[in-house]
Amino acid sequence: HKSSRAVSGAFELSAQAVIVASGGIGGNHELVRRNWPERLGAPPKRMITGVPDHVDGRMLAITEAAGGRIINRDRMWHYVEGIKNWAPIWTEHAIRVLPGPSSIWLDARGKRLPVPLYPGFDTLATLSHIMSTGFDYSWFILTRKIIQKEFALSGSEQNPDLTGKSWRQVLGRATSGIPGPVKAFMEKGEDFIVEADLSKLVARMNALAGGEPLLDVAQVEREIRARDRQLDNPFSKDAQITALRGARTYLGDRLIRTARPHKMLDPANGPLIAVRLNILTRKTLGGLETDLDSRVLDAAGQPVPGLYAVGEVAGFGGGGLHGYAALEGTFLGGCIFSGRSAGRAAAGAVA
Ligand SMILES: Cc1cc2nc3c(=O)[nH]c(=O)nc-3n(C[C@H](O)[C@H](O)[C@H](O)COP(=O)(O)OP(=O)(O)OC[C@H]3O[C@@H](n4cnc5c(N)ncnc54)[C@H](O)[C@@H]3O)c2cc1C
Repeated sequence: HKSSRAVSGAFELSAQAVIVASGGIGGNHELVRRNWPERLGAPPKRMITGVPDHVDGRMLAITEAAGGRIINRDRMWHYVEGIKNWAPIWTEHAIRVLPGPSSIWLDARGKRLPVPLYPGFDTLATLSHIMSTGFDYSWFILTRKIIQKEFALSGSEQNPDLTGKSWRQVLGRATSGIPGPVKAFMEKGEDFIVEADLSKLVARMNALAGGEPLLDVAQVEREIRARDRQLDNPFSKDAQITALRGARTYLGDRLIRTARPHKMLDPANGPLIAVRLNILTRKTLGGLETDLDSRVLDAAGQPVPGLYAVGEVAGFGGGGLHGYAALEGTFLGGCIFSGRSAGRAAAGAVA
């Protein structure tokens, strides 16, 4: 799926208006590292790629050379729940797990992440914390009962029920066991380990991480037991358990998103599953500066004649519509809005 990058000739096209709509930089790790925000510490040594090969940032430099200005280079949004796709479509293809709230989240040394960094709570704060541990990965430990309900995988090919527009299949999420795409990852995904026994699980986690073993089974067991114990307590002292109980008061979450709280070390809920979570590149929140008509601005703040930029290459509009953070899943709105502004302005300008 990677188109050829070999230059086979040159051509020239001219137009009254040019609209750059080439996407972000997430497929170009070198560019991501170069622009990595200081507030998130050193850039990860290892990342996997959550965007297709064409998201290489090339048009940013080309547009800059044509007089456009890039702003907010250090605004970006990457996920911390990346798993390597066993059936890759693009280079180093990573899938993001959209996790429900129950998995226990441990750092590379087996220490539970601090409150409130629970699965699906705060992406950029979790990224910042993980980078502060000195490692660029972390671990989920969960159970069969949790994975069944709580692992959604991001990407159209991972959600045949939604892309097939089948209500019946979507409703099946409430009843029909571990979804096919998730089961395939449990069997074939290099980041997944399934074991009934905790010490075997931890031994395999150490083997997967490689190098000197960082995880101590006693430490991991202590973290899980401390969590499990709070299930006996109706006014739990564990904020994650309290959050699970809260989530389940909403019917939608109760049906398809949040497993009934249970003890992870009770074999009836097993086997146990460990998932190594890698940093996955995704969104570029800065880019070409534009005005409200999506016209690209130059260093002096003046529009470059005939040049427009929309979508992710323009930081979803303007050069950074979202600020440093963003509201999960709201990125396409900026693409559509900036595209509409550019279309109207360009049509008006060339009429
Ligand atoms: C798996 C996944 C899940 C996502 N989920 C969500 C979500 O739930 N909600 C949300 O809001 N956003 C989501 N996003 C983000 C969103 O999809 C992207 O931000 C959005 O598609 C960007 O749109 P765009 O048109 O700016 O760029 P793109 O969709 O990246 O399109 C760029 C186009 O330009 C072409 N191109 C690039 N360079 C060149 C070149 N040099 N010459 C010619 N053509 C070129 C490419 O081939 C491509 O067709 C997700 C992204 C991914 C990868």
